[in-house]
Amino acid sequence: MDFETIAKKDKEYIMPTYGRFPVALEEGHGAVAVDCAGREYVDFGSGIGVNSLGYAEPGWAEAVARQAAKLQHTSNLYYSEAQVKLAQRLCELSGMSRAFLCNSGAEANECAIKLARKHSFDTYGRGRGEIITLQNSFHGRTVTTLAATGQEVFHNYFFPFTEGFAYAPAGDMEALRNLVSEKTCAVMIELVQGEGGVRPLDKGYVQALRDFCTEKNLLFIVDEVQTGVGRTGSFYAYQQYGITPDVVTTAKGLGGGLPVGACLCTEALGDVMSAGTHGTTYGGNPIACAAASYVLEKVGQPEFLAEVREKGAYMKAAIEKMPGVAGVRGLGMMLGVELTKGNAPAVAKACLEKGLIVLTAKEVIRLLPPLNITCAEIDRGLAAMEAALASLQ
Ligand SMILES: *Cc1c(COP(=O)(O)O)cnc(C)c1O
Repeated sequence: MDFETIAKKDKEYIMPTYGRFPVALEEGHGAVAVDCAGREYVDFGSGIGVNSLGYAEPGWAEAVARQAAKLQHTSNLYYSEAQVKLAQRLCELSGMSRAFLCNSGAEANECAIKLARKHSFDTYGRGRGEIITLQNSFHGRTVTTLAATGQEVFHNYFFPFTEGFAYAPAGDMEALRNLVSEKTCAVMIELVQGEGGVRPLDKGYVQALRDFCTEKNLLFIVDEVQTGVGRTGSFYAYQQYGITPDVVTTAKGLGGGLPVGACLCTEALGDVMSAGTHGTTYGGNPIACAAASYVLEKVGQPEFLAEVREKGAYMKAAIEKMPGVAGVRGLGMMLGVELTKGNAPAVAKACLEKGLIVLTAKEVIRLLPPLNITCAEIDRGLAAMEAALASLQ
């Protein structure tokens, strides 16, 4: 199909929930995507941090094909080798002890929220179910995770929202302390606010928050849906912050392109979600698990993570010198480019015209390249970005 046909059918048959770029991608290899007219793009977006090993990585494709040809689904009524392999590796790499496997970031957060509330109910009884999240956060699109999201623009249309969330300004311990009451059971944060504009939290603040949660018996939930699985240069971002959360959620890059997420917790919380309290039909699907296990085999290597840090630093330094760039913030290969001139959507459009896919988040250009992007692909993408920025000066 040509682009016009696809766009026309999209308009006719798909709910118009997405603002899309005028591109239909058809195939890809490495960090390069090809659209339906045969035009190539270096992809610094990875399908919003999902294609962590790029397009059609041969080992990943083989692991998926092998599992698909053997056993694609069993339901959670039966034990599964693919599930236990993935869960074990996730626990080893994260330092957590137990996993609930699901299909998306929002679902992983739903599990974390239910776990926090049930843990509090089991320990203190009813009436202690409030969770504090941060202003400018993003935690998902279900009715409850929208309520958890600390941005007013998301609290619209779908009333009534799930109650029991309060929002603290990021970086302000005093304000957070003032929000905590006898009703509070947990604090949930992203360490780098992704959708909120690639804003890393301050290390001292995060450590103080961890100590405060311990002192008040609040569960400390870290949403690593975007920051996880090597994105920031450590397997999870909290491993750079010198803290251990009670609950961690992960998704996006985990399956390398297949829908899979997980909610991880410590040993002490391992039995909170008892039989019958939670579940999902597709959760732990063997093909998704095989894909994720392959991703962990690669991303879990210390040398691989060192390369993510090096490539991220290289990109940051190069972009800081480009025209119209005020600064670059972020961690590892999760970067936000602040602009002096031109708005983010205009720059993203200009990049696309030069053969480069980038994302935006609030006022910044957001970059989440495949973690295994080659130096040649980085340089090709950077040249396109520089040309796009120069064209807007
Ligand atoms: C993307 C994202 C989510 C939601 O994940 P979905 O898979 O879209 O449900 C939740 N939290 C954070 C931090 C995210 O970046």
